[in-house]
Amino acid sequence: MRIGLYPGTFDPVTLGHVDIIQRGMALVDRLVIGVAINRDKGPLFSLEERVAMIQAECEAITARTGGEIVVHPFENLLIDCARDVGASIILRGLRAVADFEYEFQMVGMNRALDASIETVFMMADARRQAIASKLVKEIARLGGDVSKFVTPPVAAALKRKFG
Ligand code: ADP
Repeated sequence: MRIGLYPGTFDPVTLGHVDIIQRGMALVDRLVIGVAINRDKGPLFSLEERVAMIQAECEAITARTGGEIVVHPFENLLIDCARDVGASIILRGLRAVADFEYEFQMVGMNRALDASIETVFMMADARRQAIASKLVKEIARLGGDVSKFVTPPVAAALKRKFG
């Protein structure tokens, strides 16, 4: 059984994340979504809110396509989280060149910590490549329309936050 770990902050989950999750599902038997507590990033949504939103998205995906997705909050080292859930693959999405430098370093460090876990990068569909949680929050904060970037429940949650 091949298990993949897709880690992130998911503050909040966007259609970019959903795209990568759907692509990732084709590579593994079970996809574990690792929701990082990430206090440093000062997330807008609490861990519980982020987990609930991505859980709902994952249920919608598996209802459409089958497969197994598990949502797993974590606070420890990524590589330890991967070991805890039995993942042989870490899945990451690449947006622009700007993501590359950081991801390049992460792969090097994680490989030094555990050479048996491979990191796999995927790119979203062209229409979803530019979507970033950070910009979605900024647009929502300023009262803009985020319906092209997130699902309706997430758009509603953003509206409530910025009421
Ligand atoms: P992190 O704090 O780990 O960057 P994010 O929630 O911002 O967490 O992103 C999680 C993962 O999803 C990262 O690998 C990121 O590059 C990827 N990702 C986010 N948005 C997109 C997108 N629009 N297209 C492709 N990958 C994306």
